[in-house]
Amino acid sequence: MSQFQAIDVNEYYDTNTFERIKSFAADKPTPFVVIDTQIIAKQYDDMVRNFPYANVYYAVKANPAPEVLSLLRDRGSNFDIASIYELDMVMNLGVTTDRVSYGNTIKKRKDVREFYARGVRMFASDSEADLRMLAEEAPGARIYVRILTEGTHTADWPLSRKFGCQNEMAYELLVLAKELGLEPYGISFHVGSQQRDIGAWDSAIGKVKVIFDRLQEEHDIKLKMINLGGGFPANYLDKTNELEMYAQEITHFLKDDFGDDLPEIILEPGRSLLSNAGVLVSEVVLISKKSYTALERWVFTDVGKFSGLIETMDEAIKFPIYTERQGELDKCVIAGPTCDSADIMYEHYSYGLPTDLAIGDRMYWLTAGAYTTTYSAVCFNGFPPLKDYYL
Ligand SMILES: *Cc1c(COP(=O)(O)O)cnc(C)c1O
Repeated sequence: MSQFQAIDVNEYYDTNTFERIKSFAADKPTPFVVIDTQIIAKQYDDMVRNFPYANVYYAVKANPAPEVLSLLRDRGSNFDIASIYELDMVMNLGVTTDRVSYGNTIKKRKDVREFYARGVRMFASDSEADLRMLAEEAPGARIYVRILTEGTHTADWPLSRKFGCQNEMAYELLVLAKELGLEPYGISFHVGSQQRDIGAWDSAIGKVKVIFDRLQEEHDIKLKMINLGGGFPANYLDKTNELEMYAQEITHFLKDDFGDDLPEIILEPGRSLLSNAGVLVSEVVLISKKSYTALERWVFTDVGKFSGLIETMDEAIKFPIYTERQGELDKCVIAGPTCDSADIMYEHYSYGLPTDLAIGDRMYWLTAGAYTTTYSAVCFNGFPPLKDYYL
């Protein structure tokens, strides 16, 4: 039954790593996620090696555990922060505010005031109302304006539409920023998370170049920074290019447009640093069929959309699922444990699980270190939030 994909763990983790995670997991009650911090360190080092000219601002929302933040702090990372709560998390670990960017374009006045009071001087914006508020609460701060991007249909988890403004507006906002006594500092974009089309960066960088040139020519404003956002790949079922290929291509796009005199380049990886470091472990609660003649089994497990797997919404992120059974694979619907019919992870995509899979077996959701713990509900149906362990 070649329609279904047997998961080869070796494509995702080296054997020792996976055995280490599995034996650590063996006596723990499910569900939980185990995160190997050595993999985060490696992913971070790879990022820096591949983009030696860039400054990394880790997108804290991907996983704000102190184990993660302190590791990245020690390796020299900066932090992309979206709320006062995330700011507290990094500052509690001794991160100084010169390593923080307030990257959310949606912010309360009182929070901006607090960020500024604590020393944060770099803010994202994409609207006039926000910019005018920033001018009052964060005078003189560095402003980068986020532009809308296209091509987000090739991203598995788009971050489009809601954030950014059109090029013309971005241009005008940067002019206004200067008039308001702010420092027009740069431009940012996010091509969509888990972006499989590297060309998405090409068109975004092209737009940035036009705005850089117009501001220089028409207003003598010299922008200093481009923020290339996140969107770098993690290793799920749908394959992507290697990070190295992303880096080569993106570097080439930058050099094409900006020559050797690159502005400051910022990267904001979240998923690509964390996902591959995590394995989510669940247990099969029930296997059933909806009729005696039904062809598909329903496999209910003790983790679901409300306990960390929200990115399976519309089956967007396809986690590789490994079990220890060796039987032939046949089609399954995979669903969570709650009393909400939206709590189905995969129904249309052809997930095949072994025919000998049994109640009580463990399911290992690979590449689950990002956007799982934080997305977990607090108490839906009484289920506690997803537990996390760090090795
Ligand atoms: C979520 C987010 C990121 C991280 O994106 P990934 O695709 O997970 O790397 C980066 N920048 C901003 C502004 C974000 O909101």
